[in-house]
Amino acid sequence: MADTQISLSDQQSNASAGDPTGHLFIVSAPSGAGKSTLCNAVRRLLPDLDYSVSYTTRSARRGEQEGIDYHFISHDEFQKGIQEKRWAEWAEVHGNYYGSSATWIERMLAAGHDILMDIDLQGAHQMTRRFPGAVTVFIMPPSLEELERRLRGRGTDDERAIDLRLNNARQEIAQSAFCRHVIVNDSLDQATQALVALIQGYRGLPTA
Ligand code: ADP
Ligand code: 5GP
Repeated sequence: MADTQISLSDQQSNASAGDPTGHLFIVSAPSGAGKSTLCNAVRRLLPDLDYSVSYTTRSARRGEQEGIDYHFISHDEFQKGIQEKRWAEWAEVHGNYYGSSATWIERMLAAGHDILMDIDLQGAHQMTRRFPGAVTVFIMPPSLEELERRLRGRGTDDERAIDLRLNNARQEIAQSAFCRHVIVNDSLDQATQALVALIQGYRGLPTA
């Protein structure tokens, strides 16, 4: 059952499970819930948190930068990565492939760095099998109507893509209890504060 309480045993779970020293924070949400906006805000407030830049076969949206938002790669390159076991997890989402670099994550955690990842629930499942101490956070939209408004307001998806995202959103929301924590992204400021407080709680660091 997901909750927002952090117990001492949770905080110690990395060490007790024999995981590396860094904390792994995995943020998942239906497309359009505001996960990128929220993660970008948290990255600005906690610059010492390392962000796992995913690899994807989708094209860059306006304003997205190579190496900052994503590594944009070809379909062939992605498939090669699967064969070479380059991905700590990977998934096909909305017709595109997305994956996280296993080498980068393992190197960062082993060096004691704390990592923030923004991946879908299929990826979150894979990551928690590989890293049992990972902290999963589901970002919940206030309602499906508001989610649709945000998807339309973002202006990056056509009608078909919006329908696909809304259908996936229903399934993801139904599975949200898989995550250890849930944060409702109604007010962006409050959701940002909640995510920062949660992360800092696990790290044993003050919020401000
Ligand atoms: P995701 O990464 O989850 O797909 P985005 O971060 O791209 O979602 O956000 C989708 C749209 O919703 C964007 O236009 C963003 O500006 C807007 N948005 C994000 N959070 C909020 C919020 N709390 N209130 C209103 N609009 C928001
Ligand atoms: P978008 O194309 O809107 O940026 O992302 C679509 C979905 O792919 C989001 O749910 C996002 O969290 C997810 N995603 C982004 N990177 C990864 C990744 O490396 N692995 C997985 N499994 N999902 C990802």
